[in-house]
Amino acid sequence: MAIAKGYAATDASQPLTPFTFERREPNEDDVVISVKYCGVCHSDIHQARSEWGNGIFPMVPGHEVAGIVTSVGSKVTKFKTGDRVGVGCFVNSCTKCAERNVDLEQYMPGLVQTYNDYEADGTTPTYGGYSDSIVVKEGYVLSFPENLPLDAAAPLLCAGITLYSPLHHWKAGPGKKVAIVGMGGLGHMGVKIAHRHGCRGHSPKPNPVEKRRRVEAWRQPLLCNQRC
Ligand SMILES: [Zn+2]
Repeated sequence: MAIAKGYAATDASQPLTPFTFERREPNEDDVVISVKYCGVCHSDIHQARSEWGNGIFPMVPGHEVAGIVTSVGSKVTKFKTGDRVGVGCFVNSCTKCAERNVDLEQYMPGLVQTYNDYEADGTTPTYGGYSDSIVVKEGYVLSFPENLPLDAAAPLLCAGITLYSPLHHWKAGPGKKVAIVGMGGLGHMGVKIAHRHGCRGHSPKPNPVEKRRRVEAWRQPLLCNQRC
C-alpha cells in the first residue's frame, strides 16, 4: 500500500491537522492520481463536524479533486499516466443497480462516497482529496481538457455539476430566464453556467454581498468544456 499525506479531522470537535495514512492497493481497473488541487465545499465542513450525524473519523474531506494520473491498472482503457483528471462526490456504486439505472448512480444504495464512507468491501475507509494522492476505479474518474486549468476545474466536480444538472435538465438556453436563489459557491457557478448557456438570469433579492458576487460572476465567463 502507498503512504499518503493529507489533512484530517480526528473527531467532530477538532480542526484539520496533518495526517499520514495508507491508500488502498490499486486493482486492475483503478487509476492512481496525484492530487494537485481540491475545492473546499461547505458540505466538507458539515461532514467534518459530523453535523449530518454519520462522521467516520479520522476523516479526510474533499470531493472536488483535480490531479494528474501517476499509474493505471492493467484493465484501465480510458486513462494513462500524465492525464489531467478529476474525481467528484463518489468513487463507486453497486454495478447491479448501475446497470438498471443508467447515469443515476448517485441514487444507488451501493454508492461509495469519496470520503466519510467505506469502500465496496465495507471495511476500508475512503479518504478524500485533502491529500496528495487518491486511488479511484476508472469509471468514476473524469477527464479534463488541456485548456481547463486544474485549480479552476476542481469546483466543477461538486458545485459545478450540482448547478449544471438542473440547468441542463430544464434545457436552459437562449430565450430562457434563469433565477438562482442565493449566491454562495453553487449559485455563483450556476450564474456562470447559465450565462454560457445564453440565458438571461438573475438572483432574486440579493443582499449587497450577493449583489457584488453576482456582478462578478456575470463578468467572468466560465471556462466551459460543454457546448453551451
Ligand atoms: Zn460538495
